[in-house]
Amino acid sequence: MNTSPPQPIYMDNHSTTRTDPRVVEAMLPYFSQQFGNAGSVGHRFGEDASKVVERARESIATHLGAEPREIIFTSGATESNNLAIRGVVERRRRRGDHLISVQTEHHSVLEPLRRLADRGFEVTLLDVEPHPNANAGWLDPQKVADALRDDTALVSVMLANNEIGVLQPLQEIAQQCRERGVLLHCDATQAVGKIPVDVQQLGVDLLSFSAHKIYGPKGVGALYVRSRQPIVRLEAQILGGGQQKGRRSGTLNVPGIVGLATALDWCDQEMSTEPIRLIKLRNHLWDGLQERIKNITLCGPSLENSDMRLPGNLNVALGDVDGEALLMAVGNHLAVSSGATCASTAPGPSHVLLALAMDPDQARSSLRFGLGRFNTQADVQFAIVAVAAAVATLRNLPR
Ligand code: PMP
Repeated sequence: MNTSPPQPIYMDNHSTTRTDPRVVEAMLPYFSQQFGNAGSVGHRFGEDASKVVERARESIATHLGAEPREIIFTSGATESNNLAIRGVVERRRRRGDHLISVQTEHHSVLEPLRRLADRGFEVTLLDVEPHPNANAGWLDPQKVADALRDDTALVSVMLANNEIGVLQPLQEIAQQCRERGVLLHCDATQAVGKIPVDVQQLGVDLLSFSAHKIYGPKGVGALYVRSRQPIVRLEAQILGGGQQKGRRSGTLNVPGIVGLATALDWCDQEMSTEPIRLIKLRNHLWDGLQERIKNITLCGPSLENSDMRLPGNLNVALGDVDGEALLMAVGNHLAVSSGATCASTAPGPSHVLLALAMDPDQARSSLRFGLGRFNTQADVQFAIVAVAAAVATLRNLPR
């Protein structure tokens, strides 16, 4: 008899996703049957592994409108972001020491920038539209245009925010950068596989993403690096055996790479239906919460305009309730997050909500829902009841 407690319902898909069983199945042969090192030459094991990696590279490139040689495999988006920023800056020092990014970026962009600022680079972090505007969190491309200088070496702007799901106008930003001859990096970790992403259409020069946000395995990701008009040159950050043309050394994670390619395949196949399904679920969740809970506020952009927000994202502030206490109260039944999981080691209210000029207490009372492939209407109904009950209990407790 199985005596383990039932699993909580998982609604933290911005943090990570369950690996899709179809992805696991595709990966399995590459652990113990075709286990060769893609860098080994002169025997079948190595050659087979190398072919598999190159097929995956081709497939991933096709999904993104890129060429295979423009895809560098990494250990995930944190490494991709570090490689993009540090790799470009170390090659472009002659261009200048000015870098532009946004207050609401992920820490894997902000921290490398902070290090560069310590080393004498000048970093401009742009403001976004404030709460409670309908476009809260959005970056006005004019702000990028105004900040660009002759000595700007790189601009880095994320496509979809991991906390409030806001989608940034990368196409317009890319145009501004192109006109001034400035390279543009985009952290598309929360966007790839969830909304259509094409590097040519976006006009970006570098683009980061990760497998575990799209129902693939953890510990593998990639960086797109433009090799046509202009050729982007990077200083390698991980040195060693010279794999991937010396741009990122290290034995390739063959099962992981197969997992990334397969995960992207499935996302693409479901792109015409899944975002619509998630928007419906997400809106139902918001309606249900609003119906049952007084003093609840939407954080981030309006849900009305689907071009503004990731389909599965909802972020709410629950007045007079501490977000951490709420997490604890629903924790046995429902997995959600208060602020970004990635930021959970950094105490204090979320830097993204603070960048919207939200009140710190309100920011602390926020809950982030990330709906995904395995969530159902019944899950949403359950979440509405569980959160409403927890809020009612906490509001009745003396604070
Ligand atoms: N960027 C964004 C926007 C993210 O949400 C995350 C993961 N939370 C990362 C980068 C880091 O990705 P990884 O876990 O693959 O290192």
